[in-house]
Amino acid sequence: MRTRITNILLTPGVEGESHIPFIPDAEIQIDVNRIVYAGKAEGAPAFAAEETIDGEACLCMPGLVNLHTHTPMTYLRSAGADLVLADWLHKAIFPMEKQWDEQLIRAATDLGCMEMLRFGTTAFNDMYFYTDVMAQVIEHNGMRAMLGHGIVDFDESCADMDEGVAMAEKWNHAADDRIRFSLAPHSEGATTPKLLAKVVQTAGLMGIPVHIHVSETDADVKGCWRRRGVTPPAYLEQLGLLDLPVIAAHCVWCNDRDIEILRKHKVTIAHNPISNLKLASGIAPIAKMLKAGCKVALGTDGVASNNNLNLWEEIKLMPLLQKGVTLDPTVVTPAQTLKTATLRGARALGYNDLGLLKPGYLADLILVNLHTPQMLPATDMESNLIYAVQGSDVRLTMVNGRVLYRDGQYTTLDADTLLRKAGEGAAEMRRRLDASRA
Ligand SMILES: [Zn+2]
Repeated sequence: MRTRITNILLTPGVEGESHIPFIPDAEIQIDVNRIVYAGKAEGAPAFAAEETIDGEACLCMPGLVNLHTHTPMTYLRSAGADLVLADWLHKAIFPMEKQWDEQLIRAATDLGCMEMLRFGTTAFNDMYFYTDVMAQVIEHNGMRAMLGHGIVDFDESCADMDEGVAMAEKWNHAADDRIRFSLAPHSEGATTPKLLAKVVQTAGLMGIPVHIHVSETDADVKGCWRRRGVTPPAYLEQLGLLDLPVIAAHCVWCNDRDIEILRKHKVTIAHNPISNLKLASGIAPIAKMLKAGCKVALGTDGVASNNNLNLWEEIKLMPLLQKGVTLDPTVVTPAQTLKTATLRGARALGYNDLGLLKPGYLADLILVNLHTPQMLPATDMESNLIYAVQGSDVRLTMVNGRVLYRDGQYTTLDADTLLRKAGEGAAEMRRRLDASRA
């Protein structure tokens, strides 16, 4: 398909970090899945489009990248609300997660993708179980995702490792390279040094990234000190894990030395401010990390600790939290914020041609409605974009050159059925849990 989107205000995204560029009266031309032109409509090259989309009163921008989530947890939305982390996990989440089967995972994953598409997320980085089923779902629904089979190891059996590797071998670069795989050891506390050594070796050989939770809570860090005599970043550095491309979720409890380790090894920090607040884990020192030159991207984490997949909430909250904590309104600019939600995530997924709207790049983009009360007057579009946009202002979401969502309609998902199944599926999991306890 050759598609032209006309009549748009265009932001190609942020490469540097000083300002967000905007180009009025622009158009974008897409050949199959790649952008061939993005710029002023006047003087645009001739282009025989099969479909022309009128983007009047819309901003066209790169799709959002959710760099840390557990998508099927949509069915656990609001489970264990307001419990402390250990109780939340052991009393609410883990017992429910024993009730999954393939059918439930399938529908719960699609529901999560439906929610992400509706709020302008085009790609996500996931760690969960049933990744074979999840990959099939994504192959069909058209989204872009990096999946990692969650690996835990408490007894040095490394039993989960084989499945993680098998899934990565089967699916990495599948579906026209929309699907990629990482190896996803859960965290320092849920793995052994033996397992992590295997991960280092295998991920290195396969050339795939590692996705891991790092220093999420104060207790995580204290436990690591007790077990290993160092902080989690220092421990992962010792094991050689940080020599690989790494996506480190959370990094809430990092000291200056940890920040230097993360910077030195070019680790991408997946910052999940809402989940960290909801579980009372704390506030990551993002302003300091950005100032130090760390790579920071944004994630929602799983729905059960958020409780939605609307990344615009993280986009607004990240800079606000840093301003509030540092008492300095100049920290974390709109340009830095937009970059965390787009290009930084795209790069961490291993794409060098994603996260910007320019020729040669993959056509993952969204249209955001500017003709709303909350977006006017448009005297400072940079500030409007970070602090005023609502997720529901997204009118169109395109992934890999294909429109997947437009004005409430989905092209690959049966929305009515998925919405109906959500209640039924969650009730079924609850029934199974009750039966297992009876
Ligand atoms: Zn997580």
